[in-house]
Amino acid sequence: MKKINIIGGGLAGSEAAYFLASNGIKVTLYDQKPKLGSAFHSTNFGELVCSNSLKSLKHDNACGLLKAEIAQMGSLIMEASQVSSVPSGQDLAVDRNVFSQYITDKIKKSPNIDIVSQVVSSLDENDINIVCTGPLTDSSLCEYFQKLLGEDMLSFFDAAAPLVELSSLDTSKMYVKSRYDKGSGKYLNIPLSKEEYIKFVNDLISAQRVILHDFEHFEGCLPVEVMAKRGINTLRYGPLKSRGLETDNIKPYAVVQLRQDNIAGTLYGMVGFQTNLKYGEQKRVFSTLPGMEKAKFARYGLMHLNKYICAPKLLNRDLSLKKSPDTFVAGQFSGVEGYVESAASGLLAAYYVMQRIKGQVFEPIPIYTMLGSLVNYLVMSSPKNFAPINAIYGILQLPIKQDKITIYNNSMEAIAKWREKILQKPLP
Ligand SMILES: Cc1cc2nc3c(=O)[nH]c(=O)nc-3n(C[C@H](O)[C@H](O)[C@H](O)COP(=O)(O)OP(=O)(O)OC[C@H]3O[C@@H](n4cnc5c(N)ncnc54)[C@H](O)[C@@H]3O)c2cc1C
Repeated sequence: MKKINIIGGGLAGSEAAYFLASNGIKVTLYDQKPKLGSAFHSTNFGELVCSNSLKSLKHDNACGLLKAEIAQMGSLIMEASQVSSVPSGQDLAVDRNVFSQYITDKIKKSPNIDIVSQVVSSLDENDINIVCTGPLTDSSLCEYFQKLLGEDMLSFFDAAAPLVELSSLDTSKMYVKSRYDKGSGKYLNIPLSKEEYIKFVNDLISAQRVILHDFEHFEGCLPVEVMAKRGINTLRYGPLKSRGLETDNIKPYAVVQLRQDNIAGTLYGMVGFQTNLKYGEQKRVFSTLPGMEKAKFARYGLMHLNKYICAPKLLNRDLSLKKSPDTFVAGQFSGVEGYVESAASGLLAAYYVMQRIKGQVFEPIPIYTMLGSLVNYLVMSSPKNFAPINAIYGILQLPIKQDKITIYNNSMEAIAKWREKILQKPLP
């Protein structure tokens, strides 16, 4: 059997390594950490680099459906989320340290995973490789891919939100509530009057940013100051919307939400506040919010360049490269966007590698599941202006129009059958 290498131990790589190892297949997991980190990564496997939210848990939500699908496929990140969840309304939010420590322990304890701490700058094409190096893929590996594929990497700019220490906040100026009182969430809400809101938006617009020239952002994760520039009401109808957050039957003009970030409840993330403001400016502007006058920032927001390949041009449906069929690409580097989507594609790549090892005829995941449709989007989109995508209902490849609960039931049934077919065949 060929040697199997997984490059990158983030969300996608951890899923891939753990699935194969748990099913009796030896793998080598390479990660540049801790030798070479990034502004966003520390030392663990499966780190959440920004928000601690894995989005909605509801089965009639696109990301909720995707999470249910990968849970059924044996997802390690879903297992980790069970032991690390923190109250977050109808969303699944986790304590990031407990979450990644759980994943790291599972990987380190697996007898079928060899861990190598090394920057991978080229691939051994005699092996099977699953490349999961994420949006911050080291430049040496990007150069290798550029030569191999004869293509430049694609990229867009994205930004992360700040974290604040609860003990530094004046919570008497805030109130606790989740939107529409749904779920068990303990969001801290900062109500803003019209005057406070307008002043805050103007402060944001005029604050100094790190990168001042225009560049492309991912629309789903715009820096808060970029949203603010789009019009005075943009934030009020976006991350600062007050609908469902009425207090004493009064709807504030706008609301800033803080979400619990760790199980201890000592850290809170500013929801929707991904930003590219200079650190000093973040402190100055965000400290003008009521209750945040003395806020201590456990982490400031940051800007980063996301790299990814042009999947529709370069990838087969089984996530292998057209130019190098034993090289599979998964995670954000393959052109999906988001924690759950990245993990899901890593897990799927591992299923496809397993099929290859077992000598099975390629059996794609059913196309009308959320994960099947996500991959379909990757390989069938127009290569021109290809951009990464989250799980959304708009990409679902349904044979006929169906309600969301039928979609969920059909997906669960289809994945169970598909999985069984792959797992029942013994290893060679
Ligand atoms: C700053 C930032 C904020 C983000 N915020 C969110 C968010 O809030 N919500 C959301 O859903 N998504 C977010 N994303 C997008 C995306 O979901 C995450 O990046 C996700 O972690 C991608 O998973 P991955 O497994 O593809 O890559 P990663 O989780 O980034 O894992 C890649 C791994 O590969 C390693 N590596 C890289 N190059 C090499 C090399 N050459 N050799 C060896 N190892 C290498 C890295 O050390 C890392 O451990 C964010 C991305 C970034 C960068």
